[in-house]
Amino acid sequence: MLLDGSRESSNIDDRRGSGGGRIVGGGLGTLVLALVAMYFGVDPRAVIPTGNTNSNKPLTAQDAREKQFVSKVLASTEDVWHKLVPSYSDPTLVLFRGATESACGRASASVGPFYCGEDRKVYIDLDFYKELTQKIGAPGDFAEAYVIAHEVGHHVQNELGTLNRVHSLMQRAGETQRNQLSVRLELQADYYAGVWAHYARDKGLLEVGDIEEGLGAASAVGDDKLQKEGQGYVVPDSFTHGTSEQRVRWFKKGLDSGDPRQGDTFSTNDL
Ligand SMILES: [Zn+2]
Repeated sequence: MLLDGSRESSNIDDRRGSGGGRIVGGGLGTLVLALVAMYFGVDPRAVIPTGNTNSNKPLTAQDAREKQFVSKVLASTEDVWHKLVPSYSDPTLVLFRGATESACGRASASVGPFYCGEDRKVYIDLDFYKELTQKIGAPGDFAEAYVIAHEVGHHVQNELGTLNRVHSLMQRAGETQRNQLSVRLELQADYYAGVWAHYARDKGLLEVGDIEEGLGAASAVGDDKLQKEGQGYVVPDSFTHGTSEQRVRWFKKGLDSGDPRQGDTFSTNDL
C-alpha cells in the first residue's frame, strides 16, 4: 500500500506493554464475541477467560511502525465510511498483546481479531499478522489492511443496526441456522471491506499486487479451506464465515461496486 502521505487515526487504544485492563463484561457477551470473532476458523472456546498474559515488554521500533500502519489504515476506513454513511461514528481500534478485556468478555490472542459491538471497538493482537503470513499463508500489507477493513465492516453493520438485528435472530435460532446467519454476517463484512478497497484504490493508496493480496487473504480464511487443513474434511453446516470462493466473491463485489447498499447478503439466494 502507498500510505506515506496518509493521516493517522487518533482512535487507537494501544494496550501493548501495559499490564492489562479491568475485568468487565462476560456472560452473553462472550457468545456474541465468539460469533463475530474473525479468526477465521476460531474455536469459540478460545474466548473462555484465561489468565492475564499481557506482557510488560516495552514497545519496540517495530511496534511503533505497526501502530503507524494500522492507524493509517483505520483513518482511511474512517474517511470512506463517513462519506458513505452520514451518521457514521468512528470505532476504536484496540491493540493488545496476549489477552485483554472487552465489553464482550475477556479475549485471548488465540481468538484472532474481532469486533465487540457492546463497546464498539475492534481488537487485534498484531502478532496475528505473523500468523497470517506464516500459518494462514496470506502475506502482505494489504492482507493486513483487509483484516482491519473486515472488522470495521462489522462496525458498519453495528452502525446500520444489522448486527443487533442478526444477533437477536441468532439467539432464537438452532445451530445450523445460527451458523448460516453468521456466514451472511461475515460475507457482508467482507463486502464492506471490498467497498473500502474500492475507495482506497480511487485514492491511489493501492500498489500493483495489493488486490491479489486481499483476495488471497479472503480465500485463505474460507471455512472450507481452514476445516480441510484442520481436520481433513469439510462440514458445510458448521461454517460460520463462508467458503473461500464466497469470501473472495463478496469482497470483489464490494470492490467493484463501491456501494454499500448492494451488499445485502441476508435477502439474496445467491450467497
Ligand atoms: Zn468477521
